[in-house]
Amino acid sequence: MAEQKLPKLTTRVRFPSPAPLPSGAAHCIDVIDPATQAVIDTFFEDDVAAVDRAVRRGRAAFDDGPWPRISVAERQCVLRRIADLINEHAEALVALEVRHTGLPIAFVRAMHVPRAAQNFRFFADYIGQRADRMYTQEAGYRTYVTREPVGVAALIAPWNVPLGLGLMKTAAAIAFGNACVVKPSEATPLSFPAVMPLFAEAGVPDGVVNLVNGRGHVTGAALVAHPGIDAISFTGGTETGRVIGMEAARRIRPVTMELGGKSANIICDDADLDAAVAGSIVAAFANNGQQCLAGSRLLVQRGIADAFIDRFVAATKALRIGAPTDPATQLGPLISAAQRDRVLHYAALAVGEGATLLSGGRVPPGLERGYYVEPTIVEVTDSRATVAQDEVFGPLVSVQRFDTVDDAIALANDSDFGLVGYAWTASIARAQAIVDGVRTGVMWVNTPMMRDLRAPFGGWRDSGLGAEGGDACAALYTREKTAIWKV
Ligand code: NAD
Repeated sequence: MAEQKLPKLTTRVRFPSPAPLPSGAAHCIDVIDPATQAVIDTFFEDDVAAVDRAVRRGRAAFDDGPWPRISVAERQCVLRRIADLINEHAEALVALEVRHTGLPIAFVRAMHVPRAAQNFRFFADYIGQRADRMYTQEAGYRTYVTREPVGVAALIAPWNVPLGLGLMKTAAAIAFGNACVVKPSEATPLSFPAVMPLFAEAGVPDGVVNLVNGRGHVTGAALVAHPGIDAISFTGGTETGRVIGMEAARRIRPVTMELGGKSANIICDDADLDAAVAGSIVAAFANNGQQCLAGSRLLVQRGIADAFIDRFVAATKALRIGAPTDPATQLGPLISAAQRDRVLHYAALAVGEGATLLSGGRVPPGLERGYYVEPTIVEVTDSRATVAQDEVFGPLVSVQRFDTVDDAIALANDSDFGLVGYAWTASIARAQAIVDGVRTGVMWVNTPMMRDLRAPFGGWRDSGLGAEGGDACAALYTREKTAIWKV
């Protein structure tokens, strides 16, 4: 690492030590394999004092260390080495990720871990292309605007894509020269500790990436409330987002929130039905249905509704449910008993409210051990049905018929969420009308879930605030500074 010569970027932040916890307060958390319900690990929760130590390490690395001050070229080099190391250790990371999430190994191997590595490559490239700006309109003056790293970022991740989402935040935060404290979900704590040595091996200085773990209301709350934190990036549930947003507001710190969704998947009567059925299966059931961007509200145009629904139900019933470690498995267990029971509860509730159960709604016979649920489809006639409004976060899809594209747009917008949406149609005009009409941060047309990291990914309304992506991350992880020179 090159000797740093530049002046310090920020004044050192001073904050008081936390109140000590009563002795014996350390809480032990079991890690459960969702496929077998066996306890596979146990860890001590990081309490207020442990969080304080992690933030102080981050502060020291940011305030006094080389990372924010080295050249972009040097930082790019380290980021690319991290990507290489993740790829080198991919199989070990895949095994850990499958073990604590229950996600099908084929999916984790093909998507999650390569994506985790790609995040570092993407941000390495991005910081090499970024330009600052200068205004010359005032005669005799040059006004230029630069971006500086924001400081120490708190990065809070959910359990559904632990490495992919946690490392997206980490890559973005450190690429811009920040330090960070990462808090994965207490349900999926195994894989992040395995990545930590790779940062050191790649040349990330000590204290730049710090890790804490524990329950949200203990470890997470201590982290977002810590006065040494300069910015917060949160991905998780909408209700947690409200709590974190209030803390960020109280402390006047920037925050981005990637929250829940209940996204419409609109199938028009001119759609390529093969592609629409296959894409809707992915949108609904990939990641065991536990994905913020699930196309969990299918809206099908009346003329093709019977044909589409028959094929969709048949394709759902053909999904292979089973052990996540089996490469042939397409649907594994849900993360916890609570999540399994939540899906079963919503299936029963939907039927109680008058919906028709088309498939699933029960534990698959023979898979009573582990948190399995059959992929479930219910048909509703009212978009206000609870099952069409609440985020279930599991393999449960509601289907509703519509008549015109305008009706579909109105149904899609009848939601507090606004994360993503899907449209399947052969007509450019219809596709554009849907893209323009549906109020969400992202729309996919005739494809499920393709992602370009340059573009922002973020939700509207109850689905979030801010976004992730190249420029979107620059907005959170850097602060603008204006300098005016007399020439
Ligand atoms: P969650 O909100 O329960 O927890 C998310 C993280 O926040 C965990 O690490 C948790 O420990 C922590 N946390 C909880 N309470 C906290 C508090 N008071 N202070 C600080 N941290 C706290 O969410 P989850 O159940 O882990 O994940 C599922 C949710 O995440 C779903 O709603 C899903 O839609 C959402 N999600 C959104 C996106 C997106 O990009 N929009 C991506 C994935 C998941």
